[in-house]
Amino acid sequence: MQDVPSSLPLSPPLPPSLPHDVFTGDADVLASRLSDWRGRIHGRSWLLARPRSTLEVAALMRWASDTGTPVVTQGGNTGLSGAATPDESGRSIILSLERMNAIRFVDPVGNTVVAEAGCVLAHLQGTAAGAGRLFPVSLGSEGSCTVGGIVATNAGGINVVRYGMTRDLVLGLEYVTAAGEVVEGPRRLRKDNVGYDLRHLIVGSEGTLAVVTAAAFRLVARPRHRHSALCGLASPALALNLLHAVQERVGDGLIAFELMCAGEMDLIRLRFPDLRVPIEPASRWYVFLEAGSNEPGLSDDLTQALADALDRGLVDDAVMAQSGAQAEALWHLRFAVSEANRSAGPAVPFDISVATDDLPSLLHAIETELAARVPLVRVVFVGHAADGNMHVTALLNQVPPENREAATDAVRAIVYQAVTARHGSISAEHGIGRTGRRAFEVYAQPTERALMRRIKQAFDPAGILNPGVLF
Ligand SMILES: Cc1cc2nc3c(=O)[nH]c(=O)nc-3n(C[C@H](O)[C@H](O)[C@H](O)COP(=O)(O)OP(=O)(O)OC[C@H]3O[C@@H](n4cnc5c(N)ncnc54)[C@H](O)[C@@H]3O)c2cc1C
Repeated sequence: MQDVPSSLPLSPPLPPSLPHDVFTGDADVLASRLSDWRGRIHGRSWLLARPRSTLEVAALMRWASDTGTPVVTQGGNTGLSGAATPDESGRSIILSLERMNAIRFVDPVGNTVVAEAGCVLAHLQGTAAGAGRLFPVSLGSEGSCTVGGIVATNAGGINVVRYGMTRDLVLGLEYVTAAGEVVEGPRRLRKDNVGYDLRHLIVGSEGTLAVVTAAAFRLVARPRHRHSALCGLASPALALNLLHAVQERVGDGLIAFELMCAGEMDLIRLRFPDLRVPIEPASRWYVFLEAGSNEPGLSDDLTQALADALDRGLVDDAVMAQSGAQAEALWHLRFAVSEANRSAGPAVPFDISVATDDLPSLLHAIETELAARVPLVRVVFVGHAADGNMHVTALLNQVPPENREAATDAVRAIVYQAVTARHGSISAEHGIGRTGRRAFEVYAQPTERALMRRIKQAFDPAGILNPGVLF
């Protein structure tokens, strides 16, 4: 056993059935796991558990259940709602599946892959590519986030317009309940109507219902031709006109359609001065888009769509990447957002969605209301426009420190009011976690929240899985 503190008054003896090296209480090892990626919330924990198999996870959960020990399951710790950070009580242990990171199976005929929960997303993508297939979930954090994390948060990302959210790719799950029972799997079935589909409750449950140990996913065909472009334009409304125009030309070939405001691009330039934005002079808004298909005419179709858009005045300027390296450089700009925002000082982030056609009015309402009511707050927008999902960041660095709490409350009221007035969602893809709990209490429908509580009670009656997340 490594450095496990023996004198914590509340810590129970460790389970004798598990090898000692599953555990460590080393403060240095624990340190990086006690805060969320944005560094906004901080917790405490006395123990990290790193089991090597599903049976070890089950033994751990039986012990946790018997001793009433809270368990925070952590993947790559890249989540943006604080759901993988323990609370401040110090009673929780952190459960990491990092030693369970194997790809168990790839079937390029049935188009399925089975990966363990600790497998990093980029490794899963690479394995699919090696088999001539595509695993299409793509996020800025793909080099660190894990299979368990993308399943537990139902991660979205830039390719949802074509391939859906993580949920749409999950065929089956293997998981361990709070009491330590193993639900075996994961099955790779496309058809399975035996009773309630519990898999869909676990997807997006943020570690509050079960510990996912492995997942079976659908793979998709890898488009032979892929083309990326960056457009500069004047408004979100024009961006939706462009979306329509591109879809008319490339149809289902559209893979990604991302909208970013000039203020967000400025933050990227500030944080990464070496990155080049290939559109000069600067535009008020930018669209990053990608199309893919097996048809060789795709490049002509996309070029024509962009030329038409220029003729019709939908866009001010457009550049199409002429090589894989140029495409990568474009998407590098888009993926730099989270890091740029993290460096921008105090901020209030939102991850909201509305029906896609309501997006322009939503952004306009937020911008004008903030300017009128909290003029020192600057706001930047970036997001998955074709999905109606926008990441809104209210920057507080010009607000005097003593006024920041009041400004935060005002910003939240304005943004959530604009969302609810359009029947939108206060959390589109990042989940509720710890940071969204207050908004969840206020804005989620009471009947749905009550049903969710009963589901939580059924899966985890003692409330040991991720206490403080969601409820
Ligand atoms: C730069 C950057 C870009 C991002 N872009 C996007 C984006 O475009 N779209 C998007 O949706 N998200 C995005 N995210 C958020 C984040 O990467 C995703 O939510 C990701 O799915 C989290 O995976 P993780 O392994 O890091 O999970 P963690 O952060 O470790 O955990 C997240 C949640 O999953 C639970 N969990 C983890 N593993 C398991 C398991 N095995 N069993 C049960 N529960 C588990 C945790 O308890 C927690 O509730 C981004 C984050 C960063 C830092």
